[in-house]
Amino acid sequence: VCILAIETSCDETAAAVVRDRHIESNVIASQISAHKPFGGVVPEVASRAHLQNINGVIATAMAEAHCDWAAIDAIAVTCAPGLVGSLLIGVTAAKTLAMVHHKPLVGIHHLEGHLYASYLAEPTLEPPFLCLLVSGGHTSLIGVYGCGQYQLFGQTRDDAAGEAYDKVARLLGLGYPGGPMMDRLAQSGNPDAFTLPEGNISLANGKVHPYDSSFSGLKTAVARLVSQLRDTHGDNLPVADIAASFQKAVAHALTKRAIAAAVDHGFTTLAIGGGVAANSGLRQYLTAAATPLGIRLIFPPLRLCTDNAAMIGCAAADHVRQGERSPLSLGAKSRLSLLELGQLYGR
Ligand code: ATP
Ligand code: FE
Ligand code: MG
Repeated sequence: VCILAIETSCDETAAAVVRDRHIESNVIASQISAHKPFGGVVPEVASRAHLQNINGVIATAMAEAHCDWAAIDAIAVTCAPGLVGSLLIGVTAAKTLAMVHHKPLVGIHHLEGHLYASYLAEPTLEPPFLCLLVSGGHTSLIGVYGCGQYQLFGQTRDDAAGEAYDKVARLLGLGYPGGPMMDRLAQSGNPDAFTLPEGNISLANGKVHPYDSSFSGLKTAVARLVSQLRDTHGDNLPVADIAASFQKAVAHALTKRAIAAAVDHGFTTLAIGGGVAANSGLRQYLTAAATPLGIRLIFPPLRLCTDNAAMIGCAAADHVRQGERSPLSLGAKSRLSLLELGQLYGR
């Protein structure tokens, strides 16, 4: 099955041609420089940039794949969740192409796309497996049983892991996006310099929720630490030690929950997805915990972990094989649970 896929849910305008689990082309126009002056993604700026980039990105994806329209079986597009103004640009482009070229349209849930990065990285991968999805907007532990068949074991109650990275980076004056810079700094700092909370969620029975997490308390603890250190150190903050201590807290919290879910539910494969999968601390902690338990880890290459259209196309290929397609009335939704994605196919 050959898919032209479009992804515009946030700040990357992306298009790809995917044949089943094989990438024919994967084009991304990044907007990082457009948002950098604002220290984060500005929705208005994002929509305008998508509009400017979308036609060129699609044409490049088709050209790089040496593909003509006759070879395309369906057109896939991320339609939820995300910034509605951004999603609409992709959805409108996809619907127009589907109408003009008489192709089926397949709406894809963005998080299902992130899950499918693992299939692109390891085409022989088969469900069931557990996925730890750690991105700018999500921190979720998802059981994967088949295409469109998911179970949500745990998630963040407040900030996502990537969001916490970006907020703490801003607090330390490191600029945007903060995750990669924090990671680099952390590698030269002492992770035991400061003790930071791991964001446990207490249950009514006094126990700790085994899989849910919270990162807003950790962010507040860093803010308090920084203001204390300013009193003694002035502007000469031990940023590397702060970054390393923060990284340890995040990596440990995520590892503990992912490994617990894998063991409790009998998963022998753990796939990591989302931009935070690039984090060196998370990779270290997960590898150290999973190896002795015989749990296989899948870390897709970074270009497939962050937003891209190839992962959307790979998910769509499975839906098409299942005979699913979306109506041309498909809309963009800012929120949609992964467990409700059947509604994209009239289920
Ligand atoms: P979502 O899919 O939830 O809508 P998103 O797609 O915007 O969010 P991604 O593009 O997958 O998120 O990931 C971006 C996030 O990953 C940012 O918050 C960024 O700071 C973080 N990130 C990237 N590299 C690293 C790293 N090495 N360490 C920690 N965080 C990182
Ligand atoms: Fe994403
Ligand atoms: Mg992104």
